[in-house]
Amino acid sequence: MITRNTNLKEVNSSLVVGNMIEMGHEQIVFCYDKETGLKAIIAIHDTTLGPALGGTRMWHYENENEALQDVLRLSRGMSLKASISGLSLGGGKAVIIGDSKKDKTEALMRRFGKFVDSLGGKYITAEDVGMETKDMEYIRMETQHVTGIPEDMGGSGNPSPFTAYGVYMGIKATAKYRWGDDNLQGKTIVVQGVGHVGESLVGHLAKEEANIIINDIDSERMNYIAEKFDADIVLGDAIYDVDMDIYAPCALGATLNPNTISRLQCSIIAGAANNQLANEERDGQLLLEKGIMYAPDFLINAGGLINVYSELNGYNKQDALKQTEQIYTTTLEILERAELHKITTHIAALEIAKKRITDSK
Ligand code: NAD
Repeated sequence: MITRNTNLKEVNSSLVVGNMIEMGHEQIVFCYDKETGLKAIIAIHDTTLGPALGGTRMWHYENENEALQDVLRLSRGMSLKASISGLSLGGGKAVIIGDSKKDKTEALMRRFGKFVDSLGGKYITAEDVGMETKDMEYIRMETQHVTGIPEDMGGSGNPSPFTAYGVYMGIKATAKYRWGDDNLQGKTIVVQGVGHVGESLVGHLAKEEANIIINDIDSERMNYIAEKFDADIVLGDAIYDVDMDIYAPCALGATLNPNTISRLQCSIIAGAANNQLANEERDGQLLLEKGIMYAPDFLINAGGLINVYSELNGYNKQDALKQTEQIYTTTLEILERAELHKITTHIAALEIAKKRITDSK
């Protein structure tokens, strides 16, 4: 059972609606179940292009307000990601408040599945941080509106390798733009977070004989990945002081802020984490001024979404891979557009994503 959080008062309705107006959300669903202790929030950002698709994250948030801010930002990111990737999907996301290592039960996941089902397909869920394929199977018992279900159940399985492949494409395209060559051999690349996506990304980088340095708060996992791919390790906060070519954030968001940007010594930032810029305008501008080329997160981490989208239309792995490879070309286009218009790469990507949604209204 998840223990009751005494910070419940921190979320008040005017804050919620104010946030919805500011960020353009359509619907927020707060879910609570006494029996299982489930506390979850489902955020539907925009359904102009199609049903709101986005993973469920299970995380031990400090309070409900932190969970709300996370789901609002993540669901907006999904609208942008679907749009820039040319998919007929809207943006949504869900968070379950709790410790994924201690609080998970079959009953809790199935109860969450019932809440998803109650939305009648307006929101389609998938796997995100803190969730495993097994959890998706439980959710699937209660609703059809799930993607990324196991391959032996006719689904497309874990989307993370596709996300990693797309990030790899984004890294190579940014390298090409920056250095005129996308060969990563000998480049020092720091990967923060070697979970599902990070591990698969490290695999691609190792094949190119990049000089890989990894960092993770889970030391057991970090040591395992370091050994598997012959990577070096950097501990804790020292990651931001490493002399590197590429920083690849693959843990949680908001690691790019004035404090870290002033310390970062790299030419390129390109990783899987959602919402890497703590403040989109301010921190995008800081990176531009510092001459660091930033590959927008919602553009290059779309591989997993592309893969689960394919599942909705009769899964074809080769097509999903081909479409994920397109991230290379789109990244080049966005970097070019940003340079031409003297805007940040984030704004360049944002403009393209928003235009497609606006034009479809
Ligand atoms: P994961 O939970 O499998 O891995 C995350 C890893 O980051 C874990 O090993 C965790 O210990 C580590 N971590 C957490 N906080 C950290 C910190 N402060 N410093 C260093 N390491 C830390 O998650 P994942 O599926 O690999 O996703 C990674 C990121 O990519 C997330 O931000 C996720 O939202 C984003 N993303 C994932 C997918 C996907 O297909 N899984 C798709 C798009 C975006």
